[in-house]
Amino acid sequence: MPELPDVEGFRRQMERWTRGRRVEGVRVWDRELLRNSTPQAVGRLLAGKKLKPERHGKWLLARVRDDHATLVLHFGMTGLFTWDDADSRPHQHDRLGLTFGDRELRYRNMRRFGGYWLAHDDRELELITGPLGPDAFAIDEGDLRELLEPRRGGAKAALMDQRLIAGLGNLLVDEILWRARVNPRRDIRRVDEKKLYGTMRSVLEESLEHERVPPIEGWLTGARDSRDARCPRCDSKLRKETIAGRTTAWCPRCQRR
Ligand SMILES: [Zn+2]
Repeated sequence: MPELPDVEGFRRQMERWTRGRRVEGVRVWDRELLRNSTPQAVGRLLAGKKLKPERHGKWLLARVRDDHATLVLHFGMTGLFTWDDADSRPHQHDRLGLTFGDRELRYRNMRRFGGYWLAHDDRELELITGPLGPDAFAIDEGDLRELLEPRRGGAKAALMDQRLIAGLGNLLVDEILWRARVNPRRDIRRVDEKKLYGTMRSVLEESLEHERVPPIEGWLTGARDSRDARCPRCDSKLRKETIAGRTTAWCPRCQRR
């Protein structure tokens, strides 16, 4: 599942490839993934316009310049972008093409979770994304303290809640809690926010360099899926259980309740 750093990678691609160019055509190869509009309406709205890609949590928002509209993209499990010759034949899993001169930005999505939407203004945008808290990479320590202040319940559930903070998914939250030595079920009120913020920041910064939560040595993410999954810090056997609806990995020794 793409999380904040993956989607930031898609945003950077879109920015790099389409900057300064105008949309000349829109090709919808999968009408069902266009969740709330018609190919004609999208084509009319985007033709001749420049797009400014932004990210909010796990959502990519292609803002239409000189308009209030936004093309909203979610990458589901298997979404990605390609930048192809506009004349080349689309891949069988390409769902949307935006042509810019002789090139085409293609949204590919094999398993078809996610999709794309047209929002005419920010009110429509919120109906599509649901209420979102501020982006996890945009907040400072004081913001985090304020956001968590009224929150009750487990640490994992709190950080996963997109209405509270947008962009943290299963891998990021487990990584942050593991590094901060916080049990995923610990009451969020008993978590040191200063330490939590510092850890979140460093996990996000390193992940953004990789444009994913990197499954590398020294990271929980690099260890959690091995058969005999062990803590990279103390070599204890990792625990795995469903918490906040997701398979959660943690170290019973480093992250005591
Ligand atoms: Zn450990």
